[in-house]
Amino acid sequence: MLTSIRMIPWLYRLLPMLLMTPLFLTAQESENLQRLREHSDEFRKDIIEVTDGVYLAIGYALANVIMIEGDDGLIIVDTTESVAAATEIKTEFDKITTKSVRAIIYTHSHPDHVGGASVFAGADNPEVYAHEKAHRENLPSTVGRGGRGGANQFGMQLADSERLNAGIGPKLVFGPQGQGYIAPTQTLDGERMTFEAAGIRVELVYAPGETDDQIYVWLPEKRVLMPGDNFYRAFPNIVAIRGVPLRRADHWYQSLAKMIAEQPAYLAPSHTRPIMGAAQVNTALTAYHDGIKSVYDQTIAGMNRGLRPDELVETVKLPPELAENPYLLEFYGTVPWAVRAIYAFHLGWFDGNATNLFPLSNADRAARLVTLAGGDSNVIEAAQAALQENEYQWAAELADYLLTNNPSQQDALRIKALALRAIGAQQISANARNWYITSAVALERAAD
Ligand SMILES: [Zn+2]
Repeated sequence: MLTSIRMIPWLYRLLPMLLMTPLFLTAQESENLQRLREHSDEFRKDIIEVTDGVYLAIGYALANVIMIEGDDGLIIVDTTESVAAATEIKTEFDKITTKSVRAIIYTHSHPDHVGGASVFAGADNPEVYAHEKAHRENLPSTVGRGGRGGANQFGMQLADSERLNAGIGPKLVFGPQGQGYIAPTQTLDGERMTFEAAGIRVELVYAPGETDDQIYVWLPEKRVLMPGDNFYRAFPNIVAIRGVPLRRADHWYQSLAKMIAEQPAYLAPSHTRPIMGAAQVNTALTAYHDGIKSVYDQTIAGMNRGLRPDELVETVKLPPELAENPYLLEFYGTVPWAVRAIYAFHLGWFDGNATNLFPLSNADRAARLVTLAGGDSNVIEAAQAALQENEYQWAAELADYLLTNNPSQQDALRIKALALRAIGAQQISANARNWYITSAVALERAAD
């Protein structure tokens, strides 16, 4: 980080201030950064034999591919977001077996699960299974994200050295979108669907959670469960900051309860590494269920007492016995984001404070506050002091008061960039880190 900042010429103007600033990591900050960096090991490239005839490819793309070998053919569960990554995985799978693919299953319709299907299908003409709601959750074609989105969340514009990882995968490796997608030929519209492919009995079970079209795949004879994106080794994104419709945390933990009841001996997720052994799987799924349920229950209890979102995020925490659970560390989603999502799902955007029904415009509020503070130079001085005192959030908020009415205010751009880099360096969530650093880079460019 120091090296990249040295390369920014304008930084020298702020150097005296920086020399007084312990900007580069307190003990807590460096621990988060170190843990996120170590989390990258979860995504080392591998073809893992989960159990007899079940193979999982990890580290080639954001999502995994699972291959199940039957007597006379193969079943593929999820296909990654990329034809190139899928081709690389297929080359590895071909070293194990070149049997025909009889079925492809999409655990849900997110692009990182459906984009490489044509590579596995080849000329085999397999059935393609998905929930009948597949693709209905996607944003209407008229709704865009206005420049925010997966690029910020996954750090797609960042150098590899800045990105570290994507929380649930090494990185998103989009090629042309939808290139390898094949539309489902068989859909589940009830609770459970059973079929046989390549001599293997397969059960697809409706499991709303991360999406409303989510299914888990259960192989009763092998006791292998594929949870899709309702389980991975990171606290979940109850709602992704890239901008998606609100998700149901209560449905999510209820779907986890259904998985636990199957008593799987192997868990082969679509992100992060598999878990082997009935006791280990039960422990992991139970922790995940309990963690989400606890956050949900605490949020609802707080809402019932009249707490607003900004108050709820101060009080709702994972219980101490779960806070350090390896499956609930906030490498991807975070508890405060989950709390805000649960509140918004049940009670909407309004926090109940009448002042917030028709607030001042940002421009009006910023102009009044800057005047109240005695003008631009006082606000800049206060923001610089905040940087020196490691109060990075306050520094960024002060800079915003100036930038609202003068988006090219140079000192404010620089201060905000430094503040966001410092906050980014404190994050354990890859999503948060990527968003902060991506925003800081844009501000640095604007300040050049
Ligand atoms: Zn996914």
